[in-house]
Amino acid sequence: MAGCAARRAAPPDPLFLPMPRKLFVTTALPYANGKFHIGHIMEYIQADIWVRTQRMLGNEVNFVGADDTHGAPIMIAAEKAGLTPQQFVAGIAAGRKQYLDGFHIAFDNWHSTDAPENHQLAQDIYRDLKANGLIETRTIDQFFDPEKSMFLPDRYIKGECPRCHAKDQYGDNCEVCGSVYAPTDLIEPYSTLSGAKPVLKSSEHFFFKLSDPRCVAFLEDWTQDGRLQPEVANKVREWFSVRTNPDGTTSEGLGDWDISRDAPYFGIEIPDAPGKYFYVWLDAPIGYLASLKNLLTQRGQDYEAYMADPQLEQVHFIGKDIVTFHTLFWPATLKFSGRKVPDNVFVHGFLTVNNGEKMSKSRGTGLDPLKYLELGMNPEWLRYYLAAKLSARNEDIDFNATDFMARVNSDLVGKYINIASRAAGFLAKRFGGQLAEVSADGDALLEHMKDVAPGIIELLAEREYGKALRETMLLADRVNAYVDQNKPWELAKQEGMDARLQDVCSTCIEAFRLLTIVMKPVLPALAAQVEAFLKVAPFSFASAQQRLGAGHVIGTYQHLMQRVDAKQLDALFEAPAQAEQAPAATETAAPGGEELVPTITIDDFAKIDLRIARIVQCEAVEGSTKLLRLTLDVGEGRTRNVFSGIAASYQPADLVDKLTVVVANLAPRKMKFGVSEGMVLAASAADEKATPGVYVLNPWPGAVPGMRVR
Ligand SMILES: [Zn+2]
Repeated sequence: MAGCAARRAAPPDPLFLPMPRKLFVTTALPYANGKFHIGHIMEYIQADIWVRTQRMLGNEVNFVGADDTHGAPIMIAAEKAGLTPQQFVAGIAAGRKQYLDGFHIAFDNWHSTDAPENHQLAQDIYRDLKANGLIETRTIDQFFDPEKSMFLPDRYIKGECPRCHAKDQYGDNCEVCGSVYAPTDLIEPYSTLSGAKPVLKSSEHFFFKLSDPRCVAFLEDWTQDGRLQPEVANKVREWFSVRTNPDGTTSEGLGDWDISRDAPYFGIEIPDAPGKYFYVWLDAPIGYLASLKNLLTQRGQDYEAYMADPQLEQVHFIGKDIVTFHTLFWPATLKFSGRKVPDNVFVHGFLTVNNGEKMSKSRGTGLDPLKYLELGMNPEWLRYYLAAKLSARNEDIDFNATDFMARVNSDLVGKYINIASRAAGFLAKRFGGQLAEVSADGDALLEHMKDVAPGIIELLAEREYGKALRETMLLADRVNAYVDQNKPWELAKQEGMDARLQDVCSTCIEAFRLLTIVMKPVLPALAAQVEAFLKVAPFSFASAQQRLGAGHVIGTYQHLMQRVDAKQLDALFEAPAQAEQAPAATETAAPGGEELVPTITIDDFAKIDLRIARIVQCEAVEGSTKLLRLTLDVGEGRTRNVFSGIAASYQPADLVDKLTVVVANLAPRKMKFGVSEGMVLAASAADEKATPGVYVLNPWPGAVPGMRVR
């Protein structure tokens, strides 16, 4: 192990690698019960910069992510939305791309833990652990909701705190006095799902024996051999020893891990155990492997062979809240199922916004990444700003609006972009865009930059992005000092100074190119614009050791980056408008003769499943003057029978083969003439006598049966 630690301690030589590294890189899998927040985006940007750095060094990287889809919270959220869990997580997955593309986060694959690869891998890994004697079953007593017929996770049980007697406290801890306890300690417990009083019921659970001496010995070594950040390794070391917790209880070192849940559960079935599913945290990190396998399969590559390569390095970027899973359960799961263990787990802290101030209603709810993009704010401002704040340590960082504006406007635009904008104009107007030989002072500047560049690249490879950008801005300061000494705008006015003007501007463009190369992992879209402007092939880090050289002709400069406008930041942090803008009910007319019903949320609306339907058949209903019987095709491969009170307004033949909109998830209703399986949407006035007529909705051309109306 000493040899291993020594190998890791040696600093990487980023520019002159004996052979390319082979890297498999992941970020933590986001739970698929909501959209991305700024914390996700920060982690993805951190990992994306590192991946781009590795690629510019010539290393081979596969960078994957996936949605973490299983578990009780998603099952319950889907039920509330009137969707199957699969439909629910598909809806979440469909929203991911706009964030990833929007912030230039270039995953090679985005997959799902509910994908077939993950079912297969999780079951294989479980079988291997079992064969290795590390799975044990025990019968445990757990709270059960008799109305919902399901075992209750701690978070769905509330009751009175046994210590301070505060009401409505969660099953595992009290938010009032901070006590930690078991759900069975709660006084008058109730299920938050049904309100029912839970009953204790026993069930057989499956445990992964993390307390097995083999696991303990392996983890004591794996966590302390230098692959983890020192502050993380120190924290993890505490978990191996018997200790007294702040609340007086004693922890006994590594405990066994309950990896099963009872049906109903949205998850992966445990082999040979009917009604038992893997706990979501068992299969979630296996999703890293499933996403990689899916990627390699798409490319026609062999997953087993890829993973078996001893040169392969497996690297996980995660937040500090999930360290236990990634430094205990995950490596032990892999090790004792005979698989490759992670080489590094890079832990970052949390992101707070504007000094972590509690966002009041008037200040909005933090930094919404989608709103940021919708306001037309440049994604690379945020990449630059977060990179400037990030280090290799597990520490929290803060997004501060004032600081953000200062860094983007004075550093990124003021110190860096302006170098190109000042020099390019003269070169284009006076010299056809052609660079000249640079003289001794410019050459000294460029040589200095070339010498400093490898150190900056090394900082990027070590995830010390803040230090890397500080070094880069020091170089930019030197370039700006050179510009101020030589004043190209004055040279341009002086007789006989053309050669010097071309020389100075050429130096500036060469310097700008070098700054762009070292910032390319942070600012990939900007770097692509610069490559086009300079008329060069895509930069690698090896490009930093070369120059464009005399005679090279650059393209036309087009504005590369705007400054941040304070108004954009105001808009970004402005509270959502709905509260202020909803007019008082008394001031509004009653449209169509009736008041609007109370406001609902988008979640309420999502419960109503509206679909395009084709009216296949329509007929009068004998014995009814109001109803028509419609036969609808809703794209389900069958037809539905729906009764609609529109007989006064339509002849049956008028409606045949027309498209309309149907409430597709309305509970079937038994009527006098048969069962109605949905409801067709139609407009009418509140007072049908005064304003007669019922008007069936008809979608614009292009809609087809089965499409959802949202
Ligand atoms: Zn309490």
